[in-house]
Amino acid sequence: MPHNLSSRDAAVNWHPYTQMQTAADAIAIVRGSGVYLYDEPGNRYLDAIASWWVTLHGHAHPYIAQKVSEQLYQLEQVIFAGFTHEPAVLLSERLLALLPSAQQKVFYSDNGSTAVEVALKMCIQYRYNQGKPKTKILAFKNAYHGDTFGAMSVSSRGIWTEPFGNMLFEVQFIDPPTIDNLEALKSCIDTYTDELACFIYEPLIQGAAGMLMHEAPALSALMQHCRSRGILMIQDEVFVGFGRTGKLFAANHLSEQPDIMCFSKGLTGGTMPMGITTCSAPIFEAFLSDDQYKTLFHGHSFTANPLACTAALASLDLLLQESTQNSIQELSAAHCRFARSITTHPKVKAIRHTGTILAIEWHTTQDTSYFNHIGTHLYQYFLQRGILIRPLGNIIYLVPPYCMTQEELQYIYQVILEALEEV
Ligand SMILES: *Cc1c(COP(=O)(O)O)cnc(C)c1O
Repeated sequence: MPHNLSSRDAAVNWHPYTQMQTAADAIAIVRGSGVYLYDEPGNRYLDAIASWWVTLHGHAHPYIAQKVSEQLYQLEQVIFAGFTHEPAVLLSERLLALLPSAQQKVFYSDNGSTAVEVALKMCIQYRYNQGKPKTKILAFKNAYHGDTFGAMSVSSRGIWTEPFGNMLFEVQFIDPPTIDNLEALKSCIDTYTDELACFIYEPLIQGAAGMLMHEAPALSALMQHCRSRGILMIQDEVFVGFGRTGKLFAANHLSEQPDIMCFSKGLTGGTMPMGITTCSAPIFEAFLSDDQYKTLFHGHSFTANPLACTAALASLDLLLQESTQNSIQELSAAHCRFARSITTHPKVKAIRHTGTILAIEWHTTQDTSYFNHIGTHLYQYFLQRGILIRPLGNIIYLVPPYCMTQEELQYIYQVILEALEEV
């Protein structure tokens, strides 16, 4: 009988995004504290990717733990149809006050993909309820919006979606905007306007595509065009929301505002799974009717779970503290200085930086892709030096928890410099 957690895990668990035949046994983490994760044999890892982009204030944060623990003794769960509770009311009130003013209602679900599913259903049924059904959707090339069927449908098509190819719905993919391609994108949109139910996009940063970035003015101009054509806009802030771009939301960089917004990842500070879809008054009102058929028939067992709402409220408290806001600016400034210092390095093919996010594309003999073999080497190289990163092929990126100190950050930069020489 195997005894350590890693080998017991291998006997029973099937891991996400993992080819189980060739994967090494999973590293068993027994404890987290601040930016560090501790494994069973006692090694520690600097979590440079916020555990898949979710952890904002560090692991096992005592303030969030305290709040969730108190809530656990008060009310752990209640059906959210016909019932409500204070954490959900408070969270919606506080969130809406921080979002662009058009956002008027909050719909709860469990994760980023479900937040996207809800947004898509809102748009499609909005058209249906108005008696003008439209089902075609506009999205960016290289988009990633999640792994459930609807979310997968509006994401980039590739080997991930290959087995399901015929079952995905109709999407028109366009390039992300630049000042140069804007006019071409507008005319492309105009040829489809009559069929389009909505436009869904990751604002400013396409995370899973390799932290691809586009400029706020170009996106604002594109959004303005969609607005003028009556195309509903879904802004997927699942990754970029809650400070990642250096401002509270990507929306704070834009002059035009969406109809619907999606949140998850950092929403609870990375403590509990939760998704949120917010919408404007006109969207909400299109579902108000004496006709039962116009209801949004969507819900999940754990919709607006009180513990998750409490974690989100506690995370917001921490996020809005001046010290956290300062840390975000300092992380951003440090990334900026480091990026400038290595732009001309021969191994650096490209470097991108927005807010707390830094991405470096490695020059290799292979093309840039998720399956570029250097990713595996880089992953091991950093792990052996006590740093958790998760390369997307030949692209490495940092998405640090906001509590990461400058010393910890400098250590990571140092290892990146060494890797640029050695890997
Ligand atoms: C991660 C992600 C999702 C999906 O969220 P899950 O919680 O993993 O389902 C959706 N949109 C964006 C932009 C993401 O980065």
